[in-house]
Amino acid sequence: MPLYGAVEAGGTKFMVAVGEEAGAEPNAVRRIETSSDAAATLREVITFFLDHGPVAAVGVATFGPVDFRKGTISTTPKEGWAHFPLRDILQRELRVPVGFDTDVNGAALAEARLGSGRGAQSLVYVTVGTGIGGGAIIAGKPVHGLLHPEMGHLPVRLHPEEPAGFMGVCPYHGNCLEGSASGPAIEARWGKPAVQLPPGHPAWMIEAGYLAQACLSISLILSPERIVLGGGVMDQPHLLGMVRARLAELNRGYIPLPELSAPGLKYPGLTGAFVLAEEALQ
Ligand SMILES: [Zn+2]
Repeated sequence: MPLYGAVEAGGTKFMVAVGEEAGAEPNAVRRIETSSDAAATLREVITFFLDHGPVAAVGVATFGPVDFRKGTISTTPKEGWAHFPLRDILQRELRVPVGFDTDVNGAALAEARLGSGRGAQSLVYVTVGTGIGGGAIIAGKPVHGLLHPEMGHLPVRLHPEEPAGFMGVCPYHGNCLEGSASGPAIEARWGKPAVQLPPGHPAWMIEAGYLAQACLSISLILSPERIVLGGGVMDQPHLLGMVRARLAELNRGYIPLPELSAPGLKYPGLTGAFVLAEEALQ
């Protein structure tokens, strides 16, 4: 049985793993800090695969924005990583096929194949945490276009209960979805992190309102069978039901709505990287 290598590349850490099958318990997992020396970080990744391999293929689910033609993280403000040829270095050093996609497309792929949307041909995965991102699977394949979907920056209408003067935290758009509903937006609005706000706090109605707007836009544009909402902010168990209820209100019965669910997988991004590795080998 071939061994696969998986990389979930994040702005603060790289999770790397070796295993025999996507969805199965990996043989080995390591956390590597994302340093501003991209080449050094990648050397650690390669050493891990050499120590635990040989791997037959590697899958990379990475933070973006991603340039698929070049296999790079393109214009990231993350120091040391802009235009870094992540895919080509892995291919050259390990001499194996490398599957390469965004972290959220990887997570969407994993949730559609093995997670809460098992068997779905169309699924959107949205992560709500330090940032907001969305990946889409349509007809069983991750959506790529000129770039790839950047659902975190969808424009949203100002919530009627939005505290006066709050302008959002997105450096590009102010109060886009990410600027209004990410973890840092919640903290900036209320002066404390989301985990410290009790379920009855007005923060959650506003949060659910913005996420429901995003889910409606996603449903109207892509018509997925399911939207999976993950990420640290969604760890609040009351939030998913509030988003579902608000989405139904906003829709006013116009379209059949997708199933909204929490991730079915513990590590959707890393599992997605394994799926990408399997596909790269085929
Ligand atoms: Zn934005």
